[in-house]
Amino acid sequence: MHAVPRPYGQTAVVANFACERPPRGCARQWFRKDGGILAWLPLPGRRVSIVWSAPAALATELMSLDHAALASRVAAAGAHALGDFGVVTPPSAFPLQFLRLPALVAHRLALAGDAAHGVHPLAGQGVNLGFGDAEALAAVLAERGPVADPGASVLLERYARRRAEPVLAMQAVTDGLARLFGARGAWVSVLRNLGLAAADRLPFVKQALAQPALR
Ligand SMILES: Cc1cc2nc3c(=O)[nH]c(=O)nc-3n(C[C@H](O)[C@H](O)[C@H](O)COP(=O)(O)OP(=O)(O)OC[C@H]3O[C@@H](n4cnc5c(N)ncnc54)[C@H](O)[C@@H]3O)c2cc1C
Repeated sequence: MHAVPRPYGQTAVVANFACERPPRGCARQWFRKDGGILAWLPLPGRRVSIVWSAPAALATELMSLDHAALASRVAAAGAHALGDFGVVTPPSAFPLQFLRLPALVAHRLALAGDAAHGVHPLAGQGVNLGFGDAEALAAVLAERGPVADPGASVLLERYARRRAEPVLAMQAVTDGLARLFGARGAWVSVLRNLGLAAADRLPFVKQALAQPALR
C-alpha cells in the first residue's frame, strides 16, 4: 500500500496564550484574506490555544517573532476580541497535508487514526476520526461470532467498509473548505460569502456542520 500525502502549502503554528478576558468556552475561527485560517480554542480560565494554519511564508515569519511580538500579532489578528495576549507555551509548527490511502487494511493489518487518513485541522476532526476508527474496529472484533482469528481478512474488510463513508465524508468537507478558503480571487470571495450567508440562515445546515465537531 503506497500513498503520497498532498501538502496544503500551509503550516499550522500552534501555541497557548494567556488573555486579558476569559474565552468563556467560546471557540473563534477566522478565514483570512491571506489564505490562512486562525482558530482560538478556549482553555480553562484566561487562556486559549491557537492554531494558525498559515501560508508557508507567513508561518515562517510567525515562527521567527519573539514572544511579545507573536502575542500581539495573534491578538491583533483576532481584533483583540479577548484583549491583549501573552505567550504561555512557545509556538510549534506542523506542515499540513491531506492523506487518502487506497485501502485501510492489508494482510493482517488494519490502519487507524492519522496513519489511516490525514485531514486539515480547520474543523478539529482528526482525533474524532481516529476515535471512530477505534470504535468501529473494536465493534467488528467484538461481533465476530464464529470467526476465531481477529486478523481474518473478512473482519478487516468489514472494518474498512464501516469506515469508508465517514472518512470520505469528513475528508470531502474539510478538504473542500480548505481549498475554498485557500483560493484567491474576487469571484471566489463572493462565492464564499454567499455560501456562508446561506448556511447561516439555514439552521439545519448550521447544525449539520457543527454537530460532528461538538461530538
Ligand atoms: C495543528 C493541528 C491541530 C489539530 N487540532 C485538532 C483539533 O482541534 N481536534 C481534533 O480532533 N484533531 C486535531 N488535530 C488532529 C489530531 O492531532 C490528530 O488527528 C491526532 O493526534 C492523531 O492521533 P494518532 O494517535 O492517530 O496519531 P499521532 O498523534 O500522530 O500519534 C502517533 C504516535 O506514534 C508515534 N510513532 C510514530 N512512529 C512510530 C514508531 N515507528 N514506533 C513507535 N512510535 C511511533 C509518534 O511519535 C506519535 O506519538 C490537529 C492536528 C494538527 C497538526
